[in-house]
Amino acid sequence: MTVPTLSALATQLTSYNPDSLSVADAQQLIRDYVQATDSSETVGLNDALCRVLSEDVISPINVPAHDNSAMDGYAFRGSDLGVEAVMFKVVGTAFAGHKHEGPVNTGECVRIMTGAVMPADCDTVVPQELVTSASEASMTLAPGVVRPGDNRRLKGEDLMAGKSALRKGKTLHAADLGLLASLGIGQIPVQRRLRVAVFSTGDELRNIGEHLDEGCIYDSNRYTIRAMLTRLGCDVLDMGIVKDDRESLEAALRTACESADAIVTSGGVSVGEADFTREMMAKLGEVAFWKLAMRPGRPMAFGRIASNGKSAYLFGLPGNPVAVMVTFYFFARDALLRMMGGTKDSTPLIQAASQTAIRKKPGRTEYQRGILSMDANGNPQVRVTGSQGSGILRSMSEANCMIILHHEQGNVNAGDPVNVVLFDGLC
Ligand code: AMP
Ligand code: MG
Repeated sequence: MTVPTLSALATQLTSYNPDSLSVADAQQLIRDYVQATDSSETVGLNDALCRVLSEDVISPINVPAHDNSAMDGYAFRGSDLGVEAVMFKVVGTAFAGHKHEGPVNTGECVRIMTGAVMPADCDTVVPQELVTSASEASMTLAPGVVRPGDNRRLKGEDLMAGKSALRKGKTLHAADLGLLASLGIGQIPVQRRLRVAVFSTGDELRNIGEHLDEGCIYDSNRYTIRAMLTRLGCDVLDMGIVKDDRESLEAALRTACESADAIVTSGGVSVGEADFTREMMAKLGEVAFWKLAMRPGRPMAFGRIASNGKSAYLFGLPGNPVAVMVTFYFFARDALLRMMGGTKDSTPLIQAASQTAIRKKPGRTEYQRGILSMDANGNPQVRVTGSQGSGILRSMSEANCMIILHHEQGNVNAGDPVNVVLFDGLC
């Protein structure tokens, strides 16, 4: 398969302008450019959480294997129900894992527990709390309490033998692992973990524990990026801080390229005087430098570099800590998931009423840090957190979502609906 070049893909976009690239165009280019890695490995279920399935899973058995009871109660023939109350004779008991042997005739019932196999000829269960009276010997049921077939789980209703249980490309979550276990599958083929090299660039950056000279700051981006990569299920190669000089940068980019599938850097991609990153990245491969029509996070580099016969995708994120997170979430994340063979980005957009007016210029996408909550009527509402400066990580830390103000959108009035994407959810 021939891999398309970035410039070839860019010419297909009528609106391509690297000096003011819309978020949608950048996302499209990245999506078309990245290819999934194709190596897989087999892991045990307990090691499969958040891994991407590399083959379809076909159910080898019916789940459940037999019709069984959904309730603790009494099982009987539905045809015994009528317009009058019925008194049944209790002829036995069925427990989960211990079925009732023997026939159940008309007018008879079996005391049954949840999950127990339905006795022969029984198709209906009444929950014990709905019977009129019951003793060891008999059970009386008023008319209209249950209908024939109620409270019975059917054989194969969860999964039928031979049918697809999970599709290739699915990211495995808790329920998927339980589902695989319910099929008796203990080993599962998944995509190899993506190896991602990370480094920060900037002479002003210091490691935690180092003395902060005047004008210096601690390197926070590497921690944020590592955490976001870890949550995506990547193996992270942390290469530390790289100085703003040609030799150090070239050496770091080459090492990263030779040891990882992708490289995520921060800083050095704007057109500052000491920013050699752009030059070095361009020297080693095909890298586009974009000024994105967005806020925060205008500059970003994206492409593929090569060294000693190895190549790696490159995400040169901006330096500002909030811009780093936004460009990671809205560009790098999707691309990395694709490289891992994931089939789709499952982050849903939610609509919420903005609690305040928000100023917004059409012609760029804005990502604001927000706090999503419920109003008194239980409807979603969102407010912007504190200062939105792109270096202010505190407001990111206080936020539970991003408010996305789309490219064409203008000013938002209080009460207007806006789109929101949550940072966390159940997984
Ligand atoms: P740059 O894009 O390199 O010009 O950086 C833009 C801003 O982000 C500057 O104020 C940098 O000091 C800051 N910055 C860059 N890298 C980091 C980092 N790793 N951690 C925290 N702040 C950073
Ligand atoms: Mg810098």
